[in-house]
Amino acid sequence: MTWHFGTLAAEPGQRVHGTLDAPGVNTPIPVFLIHGVAPGPTVLILGGIHGCEYSSIDAALQLGRTLQPETVHGRVAVLPIVNTDSFFARSIYVHPGDGKNLNRSFPGAADGTDAERLADFIYRTAIQPADVLMDLHGGDMIEALVPFSIYHVTGDARLDQAAEDLARTFGIPYVIASRGQVPGSTYGAAAEAGKLALIAEAGQQGILSREASAQLQTGVHNCLRKLGVLSGEVEPTQTQVLQQFDWYRADTAGLWYPAVSCGDTVTAGQTLGRICDLFGEPLRTVTAQTGGKVLFLVTSLAINGNDPLLALGDAR
Ligand SMILES: [Zn+2]
Repeated sequence: MTWHFGTLAAEPGQRVHGTLDAPGVNTPIPVFLIHGVAPGPTVLILGGIHGCEYSSIDAALQLGRTLQPETVHGRVAVLPIVNTDSFFARSIYVHPGDGKNLNRSFPGAADGTDAERLADFIYRTAIQPADVLMDLHGGDMIEALVPFSIYHVTGDARLDQAAEDLARTFGIPYVIASRGQVPGSTYGAAAEAGKLALIAEAGQQGILSREASAQLQTGVHNCLRKLGVLSGEVEPTQTQVLQQFDWYRADTAGLWYPAVSCGDTVTAGQTLGRICDLFGEPLRTVTAQTGGKVLFLVTSLAINGNDPLLALGDAR
């Protein structure tokens, strides 16, 4: 049976690539469709929801180029650069058209702003028809990051357990069980619609890292084996589930001087950094409310009010 994906189509046994015109972006979105001969689930792999997370964009691109219909049971759609406008504008966090974060805009709105219209298009065209979503990310242009994955806790015990199992299978050591800390995400919207979904983050700071890209590709391959999309043994993994994922944000603009490094383990009450005024005088001291591990850390000296500074993950 022909697989229709937007205006693209792939027959069983076919590997197709093409672009989709999407509302909310000026540059059409690249798509790979790998339609297996054997039956199986429909898996969606996204990259470039954030346009400057290069290692994860490359990971999705390589997956799209290398997965073969002869070895795929089911169907795999890969969109390596969802937000093409953000990619070419080198726009950190947000869509250059409306200043909104695409990964806070799902499931989107057909009559909304650029990010909301793009989210709505991706949701209807790519997420709704899929059984499984793996959304690849990393630290943005100004973020250092320890690799981690996240799944969204829906309250449906069976779905949540399956999502946790998939995130563990991905094999990145830190797995965050998110309880709505990040509203409007791809994986949250997908999970709320009953899909098996995760986000996986590796790479950082605008650097194309072959190692981080390979880590994400390895994780996707292992998940595809667990899902039965690829044959072969599932590699054993060692992961730790973190229940807490606390973001710290700037409450004023200024110069950000972190006092910790990405990957550090901190204790409650420890100084995480200071925001100084334009003359270098301290305006704010940011203090850890709980203990935890620094999973990402903004490394930009310039900080705007409400910008993220860092996040702490913890097992408690
Ligand atoms: Zn991202």
